[in-house]
This record gives sequence, structure tokens and C-alpha cells, in this order.
Amino acid sequence: MKIPIDRITESPESWSFEATPDWWRERCDAEVREAVAEPLGVTARAHRMADDLYLEGEVQGGLSFVCGRCLTRYRAPVRESFRLVLEPAGSRVPADPEGAATLVREGLVLGDELESGWFGGTELGLDSFVAELLMLGLPVQPLCREDCKGLCPRCGVDRNTESCDCQEPRPASPFAVLEALRDRDQETT
Ligand SMILES: [Zn+2]
Ligand SMILES: [Zn+2]
Repeated sequence: MKIPIDRITESPESWSFEATPDWWRERCDAEVREAVAEPLGVTARAHRMADDLYLEGEVQGGLSFVCGRCLTRYRAPVRESFRLVLEPAGSRVPADPEGAATLVREGLVLGDELESGWFGGTELGLDSFVAELLMLGLPVQPLCREDCKGLCPRCGVDRNTESCDCQEPRPASPFAVLEALRDRDQETT
């Protein structure tokens, strides 16, 4: 995923890429590797303003998750947008060695905020940035739907589709504990 820097002019232009599941698996952590089952599209629009480059776009497609409550695998759309302002690195080098290496390899390195950074060389490489964007965009607890009822903790049926006769364990309240203590005391006296 590369954009030739000399092709970026004052009038915005678009680039589209498609990244296969293997592409993501090579660059992302285990959570993304689990979730990508189909190619995802990446679009970027870029233009130049004075010395700076403005880049915006999105990663779009469908991801596959395992619901944290009912353990069903489901597909959900993903759409992660980005908007970056890049300054020419010139003779500057990022202070951290990893950032310096990324600037050489990709021609693009971002600050902590993922909103601004530096560019250098002849091409903007979007690989690392786009991979990170998707990793940050994953849900912390995937749910097949907001009100998923989950599995019965006793017999394991999916309570979204089946019902069972299991009793919910009664929540242990402080009063229940007191009652139990009182009963025991009465038995001993
Ligand atoms: Zn669920
Ligand atoms: Zn049950």
C-alpha cells in the first residue's frame, strides 16, 4: 500500500487498495488474525498544502467475531476512518529507534496521537499505519448483539434461542448470611 509522493498535488486524489486476510495476518496481532476472514478495502485521499501532506480515508469491510456471551461466531461491518497531517521530515529523525526505522522503511511515521507525523523519501507506505488502525479499532468485548442473553451457566443452552428450567443461583445478600447465622444460633440454644 504505497502512494508516490510526487503524485500528491494540491487537488485531492484517491487511492484504493484491497488487503487480503493473509496480508492482515502478517502484520497484526492475534485478535485481528482471528477476525479477518475476507479482504478489507482501504481508501486514501491525499493532497498537498504548502509543504505538508493531508491524508484521510478509511478501512472498510466485514470482520468475524466470537460473541463474548453466547460464543456464536458472527460477522460485523468495520469502518475505521483516519485523518493525518504529515510534515516533511527533512533532516529530522524520530527520537525512538523504532520510529526512525519506520520512517526509513515506510516513508511515513506517526506521533503518539496517530493524527500527525512526518514523511520522507519518495513513497508513503500505509502498511504499518493501517494495520495499527485496525488493531486499535477492534471491540474490547465483541457481542453478537447489544442484548445477547448468553449461555446458561448451568446447562449451557444458548438463551437467545432456547430456554431451560435451571434456577438462577440466588444472589448472596448480606441478609441471607445473617439469617443463616441466626438459624444456626437458634439450633444450638
Ligand atoms: Zn451473543
Ligand atoms: Zn440452563
